[in-house]
Amino acid sequence: MKKTTGFNRDITSKWRPATQAVRGGTWRSEHGETSEALFLTSGYTYDNAEQVAARFAGDEEGMTYSRLQNPTVAMLEERIALMEGAEACRTQATGMAAMTTALLCQLEQGDHVVAARAAFGSCRWLTDHLLPKFGIQTTTIDSRDNEAWAAAIRPNTKLFFFETPANPTMDIVDMEYVCGLARGAGITSVVDNAFATAALQRPLDFGADVVAYSATKLMEGQGRVLAGAVCGTSEFINDKLMPFQRNTGPNLSPFNAWVVHRGLETLDLRARRQSENALAVGKFLQARVPVMLHPGLASHPQHNLAMRQMSACGPIFSFVLESRTQAYGLLNALELIDISNNIGDSRSLMCHPASTTHAAMGEEARAEMGVAEGMLRINIGLEDPQDLIDDLDLALKTIGL
Ligand SMILES: *Cc1c(COP(=O)(O)O)cnc(C)c1O
Repeated sequence: MKKTTGFNRDITSKWRPATQAVRGGTWRSEHGETSEALFLTSGYTYDNAEQVAARFAGDEEGMTYSRLQNPTVAMLEERIALMEGAEACRTQATGMAAMTTALLCQLEQGDHVVAARAAFGSCRWLTDHLLPKFGIQTTTIDSRDNEAWAAAIRPNTKLFFFETPANPTMDIVDMEYVCGLARGAGITSVVDNAFATAALQRPLDFGADVVAYSATKLMEGQGRVLAGAVCGTSEFINDKLMPFQRNTGPNLSPFNAWVVHRGLETLDLRARRQSENALAVGKFLQARVPVMLHPGLASHPQHNLAMRQMSACGPIFSFVLESRTQAYGLLNALELIDISNNIGDSRSLMCHPASTTHAAMGEEARAEMGVAEGMLRINIGLEDPQDLIDDLDLALKTIGL
């Protein structure tokens, strides 16, 4: 296995994210293959007993077991780190494995966490139910409100946790302010960057400490595998995250890592084209629905902030109809856009968060977070945007809008 120029940081660190997504961290075997090789192996063999001992002692570089290292997975981790502008990255089996690992590896009993109240349902479950079970207090706040972040800090606050844009309310967090506030107070900021990816937004550039991913979404982008990743300093990844990961085992499989490689090849193209399509569809929908929540449109109260942080608006936005009945009516009238709770896919998908991704948290938490009964979230794919507009136009007419 040869670490090619793709792996030489002196050469690669100056490349831009779109180049990194295709080239960063490339390893090649003695065959010189152009496409990343898939190493479906759980273990490794050694020349002699002394060598295996040296590997386990950390005195010799090399693989020992795929819970610790795998060439296909390591290549992906190096690539994601380079795209993100991070020193290091480790991947996990799912986005939720990444979030759980990023939080539990550094928190302990008696710590306090401030988290955005608008978040993916399972991320809210971590802060509302899992962390308190281990004696970690959490406060959830309106993440759009800079003052609320400052006011929630306690002497034992260890970590800030948020998404931007947030799922599904499209709340935007002012990363420069919030991550700066955290750093000044010795608090680690962990940003879930699933909606944007490094192609559109790099939280580390705004002062974030840790970036955590559901790579299942826009990063893989074609709805095939689940995957997660955590990026940060080498010290954080090696000293905090790795001891947790190597002993608890939330690892990404080499096959799924290989599929994510295929996704990254087209990430920049997809992210930009899907953002353009989402803008076109958003402009059409704006005139027909009561409430639009679209960071790419000037009607979004945080539009300017979103566009300062993101190079394009991303494929996902939400809108609110009058009732759950009306929302179901629209979903059931669609012919092209699928009813699906996935996002980041190259196919356009729509879902009703209150009855799916945000059903388990209950009505009260949904109301507080702003997940209305009539809210629909849409992921815009790579179809011709006019076909999506035609589909929505017919469906809206069916429900009298
Ligand atoms: C989907 C999602 C997750 C969870 O990722 P999985 O890969 O489904 O486990 C976490 N955060 C956000 C913002 C998501 O959209």
